Amino acid sequence: MSAAIDRVVVVGGGLAGGTAAFALREAGFEGAVTLVAEEPHLPYERPPLSKAYLRGEENAEAFVVRPEAAYDDEGVTLILGRRAMTIDRTERTVELDGGERLAYDRLILATGAAPRALAGGAHLPGVHVLRTLDDAEAIRSALGAADRVVVVGGGWIGAEVAASLRQLGATVTLVTNLPRPLERVLGSEIGEVYAGLHREHGVELVAGHVAGIVGEERASAVQLSDGRRLPADLVVVGVGVTPRIELARRADLAIAEGGVAVDARLQSSDPAIYAAGDIAAADHPRLGRRLRIEHWDNAKRQGRAAARNAIGFDEPYDRTPYFFSDQYDLGIEVRGLPPPGADVVIRGDPASRSFVAFWVQDGRVAAALNANVWDAGKELAALVKDAAEVDPKRLADPGMPMSAVAA
Ligand code: NAP
Repeated sequence: MSAAIDRVVVVGGGLAGGTAAFALREAGFEGAVTLVAEEPHLPYERPPLSKAYLRGEENAEAFVVRPEAAYDDEGVTLILGRRAMTIDRTERTVELDGGERLAYDRLILATGAAPRALAGGAHLPGVHVLRTLDDAEAIRSALGAADRVVVVGGGWIGAEVAASLRQLGATVTLVTNLPRPLERVLGSEIGEVYAGLHREHGVELVAGHVAGIVGEERASAVQLSDGRRLPADLVVVGVGVTPRIELARRADLAIAEGGVAVDARLQSSDPAIYAAGDIAAADHPRLGRRLRIEHWDNAKRQGRAAARNAIGFDEPYDRTPYFFSDQYDLGIEVRGLPPPGADVVIRGDPASRSFVAFWVQDGRVAAALNANVWDAGKELAALVKDAAEVDPKRLADPGMPMSAVAA
């Protein structure tokens, strides 16, 4: 560990930033650690926002990165409710919105992403996005007075929010660009499983591209590009996010894939600056390409990896992408990134909602999904990590042990 590194500043109070700050201590760093967060809350994990927290089943304290006392105990200076405005790379300082400057020897950027807005009506009362604790709170409190909820976007936010609000008893319509929820990420076969699941629970599915929200004083309908209008008094928009790279851009850091370009050690084009989480477009040593991943696991793991590399460890980040989702009683995990156009091999019966799906490309496993199957994680991880060459017939046969699926 280099003796010259006395001060590390982390910008971004999400899971990546919060994890990075404490990982410095876990790695033995004894210098000053400062964490700057724009939200007024202690850093927290976001997955519960569209699930248990939205449904009122969990308190926010349950999913903070670390409890308040840990900041004092571990000597992490937490600056809440402030935005970092500029980086002076020569002086090695970060200027905050109030004009205060923080000096750093190493800087970790974990500024996350912001929800995209629809072109029209995004600011009408009754229109919500879901990114923060406050957003989840606002949706929950608006729900009581809402007769018709329309959720826009068949991605992760849309599908999970539609499920949670339906579980709370709301009348919910889910509008998806492609014919099925999650089809863009998981393909039509798995998308069909989600379509069936949502319909079975009483969500109305509408396939269409949303042009905007209409209403006089507040939202009254969702306008589709083909002219259809869906009446709504509460609209939740989940049409993707934009990585927050303004700070990095202003500092002239290299940009790639819409994020901050970093190498396999999460180091940016400035050797004193690292990036982690949603904004990090990182060289993946095993996959041989740059990945920018917007999921919980990546935020957590990269936060830790960036912290360790920033203080002198030399640890390439080569974790297989991993994400999970819980909707109603269907839980899934996905390892790898399902490549569009790959063959989908299914082991088990999707109708039973307990199955495993593999994406096979050029005879090798590129990604795997387990749905309500919880004892195969290690084997699936190995097949994906090794890009194992497989025999699709054996792979599809639930009677064949995973250890015997090789081609
Ligand atoms: P997302 O997963 O990227 O999905 C956005 C969806 O919006 C896409 O399905 C897209 O359609 C659709 N869309 C975009 N413009 C539209 C329009 N005008 N009309 C209709 N549909 C439109 O983003 P998200 O759901 O907003 O989630 C935000 C972020 O949180 C993402 O980074 C996500 O990974 C993360 N998140 C992850 C989880 C999880 O891992 N379980 C849970 C919640 C949130 P196409 O499919 O046609 O592109």
